[in-house]
Amino acid sequence: MATFNWLLPMKDNLVLNTIMSRITDADRILVYRHTNPDPDAIGAQMGLVQLLATAFPSKTVVAMAAVPQRLAWLGVTDEQSVTPQATDLVIAVDCANAERLEGQLPADALIIKIDHHPNRDPYGQLNWVDESYSSCSEMIYDLYAYTTGQLTMTAAVATALYAGIIGDTVRFSTPETSSRTLTIAASLATEEIDIAAISHHEMDLTPALSKLSGYALSHQVDDGDGLVHVIISQTHFEQLGLQYGEEDVLVPLLGNQTTAKVWLWFIETPEGNYRVHFRSRAIPVNDVAKVFDGGGHPLASGAFVPDIATIERVVQRMRAQVVAKTVVSSV
Ligand code: AMP
Repeated sequence: MATFNWLLPMKDNLVLNTIMSRITDADRILVYRHTNPDPDAIGAQMGLVQLLATAFPSKTVVAMAAVPQRLAWLGVTDEQSVTPQATDLVIAVDCANAERLEGQLPADALIIKIDHHPNRDPYGQLNWVDESYSSCSEMIYDLYAYTTGQLTMTAAVATALYAGIIGDTVRFSTPETSSRTLTIAASLATEEIDIAAISHHEMDLTPALSKLSGYALSHQVDDGDGLVHVIISQTHFEQLGLQYGEEDVLVPLLGNQTTAKVWLWFIETPEGNYRVHFRSRAIPVNDVAKVFDGGGHPLASGAFVPDIATIERVVQRMRAQVVAKTVVSSV
């Protein structure tokens, strides 16, 4: 396949050299990702695990934490097979803050963080964090390309990375989608991956999700200032037979409306609090997410809030941000 090697900045060369030498030295490598995983978290995790397992057959390389059913087509984990220990090398992908890592971490282990979110919590002893990447899967491709021959691309790895890239870029539609993103996707496509099948896996809606999308579109609250939000109760979820997290595929939907500058989903969880999905075309949302103990990218963030009263505060705060930024940008 055609492999694209960029001229990475010197500091990245040093970090990637160190990452590869830590990998070479380790006997066991445990790859973690964030809770409530999306296709990029699983794609980067599975892609990296398979790259390392193929290149270093004598090492134990394990993807940590079970894969939710809706993403099981990207692979399953066997994390039960290991008890994390201090001598393990931990690689955390696509996870901005340590508290969102899923799975039991070994105490005192060396942690390498590979991520494309703002680096507010550089929890790794070694941090390769670069917000210019559209996705963590794109970074894993660059790690592969950087090693020139040490790691081997396969159709399975390419499928995982391509899935991660189209997941985080919403099929190449976010502002983070760059010529590098598209070139990497083209390179992955030379592995004869099933592009149509991957897209269907990520986009197809079950009848229950179709019904939820109809409900969301007809119950969304459009405040007229560019903010749209919808609240989905757990009862409604259960009536449709949906599992928590299944709504992820619908999150871009509210943003298709021409008047939506920022859109918010509030999903009641089985525990009774609400998961918030913040999305935006251009106005940053991550600072508002952070006020409510969440975080993420400028245009895609998340948080959890306890109740309807807090939802109202999130909406008020977000509306103020939308109005303020709209006024500034129209001057
Ligand atoms: P989501 O709406 O859950 O798909 O998340 C959008 C982005 O925000 C992803 O990059 C997540 O990793 C990140 N994110 C979601 N929830 C949180 C949180 N509670 N704290 C920090 N980042 C989050």
